[in-house]
Amino acid sequence: MELLDRLSGQLQALDAHSLIRRRRTVDSPCGPRVQVDGRELLAFCSNDYLGLANHPQLVAALRDGAARYGAGSGASHLISGHARPHALLEDRLADFVGAHLERPRTLTFCTGYMANLALIAGLTAGEREADIFSEALNHASLIDGARLSRARVHVYPHADLAALEAMLKASHATTKLVVTDSVFSMDGDLAPLPALLALCEQHNAWLVVDDAHGFGTLGARGHGALEHFDLRSPYLVYMGTLGKAAGVGGAFVAAHETVIETLLQKARPYIFTTAAPPALAHALLTSLDLIEGDEGVQRRAHLQALVAQLDDAHSGLQLQRWQRLPSATAIQPILIGDNADTLRAGAALYAQGLWVGTIRPPTVAPGTARLRVTLSAGHRATEVAQLSAAINALEKEAP
Ligand SMILES: *Cc1c(COP(=O)(O)O)cnc(C)c1O
Repeated sequence: MELLDRLSGQLQALDAHSLIRRRRTVDSPCGPRVQVDGRELLAFCSNDYLGLANHPQLVAALRDGAARYGAGSGASHLISGHARPHALLEDRLADFVGAHLERPRTLTFCTGYMANLALIAGLTAGEREADIFSEALNHASLIDGARLSRARVHVYPHADLAALEAMLKASHATTKLVVTDSVFSMDGDLAPLPALLALCEQHNAWLVVDDAHGFGTLGARGHGALEHFDLRSPYLVYMGTLGKAAGVGGAFVAAHETVIETLLQKARPYIFTTAAPPALAHALLTSLDLIEGDEGVQRRAHLQALVAQLDDAHSGLQLQRWQRLPSATAIQPILIGDNADTLRAGAALYAQGLWVGTIRPPTVAPGTARLRVTLSAGHRATEVAQLSAAINALEKEAP
């Protein structure tokens, strides 16, 4: 069949460029040590930054939520799927990040991907003139949200405030959105949020912050990037995900109540989908307690110590040719460049029982394939030393 032949041809082309992606099936809960194909591996690739995904209190809360509210929500939020735990979670999240917003309110989503689609499309819906200013390294879901919105999209170079300012000055749109990751997911660096917010206030633009990797990990109480930078503004529209540091799944948008009401009325990815199981929302209330409490403080401190350990002369990384990107977060990329070299490095680590993500185009720019090490509060210092030694040795042997 000609249609299938076309698809097969495209898949073969991906394979020829070392771009085929393969899944591995995990037989244990998410954690630093996982079971795959009967082997125990030490994993440095999840986004479970605080090690909460298999926390006994969270697992118990999920079980309790299922016992009280059942398995599924049965409908979308606007029909009958909006359950008590969803409402409690919205309120709790508004307390969590509300200090940084004006008249804060929140809305929860099944995934961060959907939250970003909803937020960008919803903020520009019904606008004849909308301009979106999108940071070059933004996550795919922000890019897709901009496409769904049908607004004009202007991409500004990574962290280039001068370029963004020139674009804002040239825009005469009635609605302007500057859209950025807070922690860049494949590079690990932080966006200059205070300067971005100042520009937005000056040019009457929304600042949409995707804090997928900051929520739970940044700020003294884990409230995220807005706490970290001590920002407060009615121009802020905040998106946090609940499947990474929070250890469960889902996402939320926090903003001025008028923004949230607009999304509730107009954002199609919010309206036309089944609400997440209420048990997840119930478990997330426990997750927020853990993040904010003493345990969260300790876990963030341990995570920061592990990040700092990578600089250590004895138990850290010493690289000559591969480039460790400057990052102070749990995301620690090691740039190799070539796709096949990167896959080989990943496979060699895997053979030693070390599971590290290999990131290739189109997730990153061509020629910048990399190992993406992610650290978690669940890791021990000895395990980070083991990983560092293995990567150091591998780089020495690499062609
Ligand atoms: C993971 C991620 C998302 C999507 O969140 P999900 O809940 O996994 O759908 C959005 N933005 C960024 C920057 C991410 O890393």
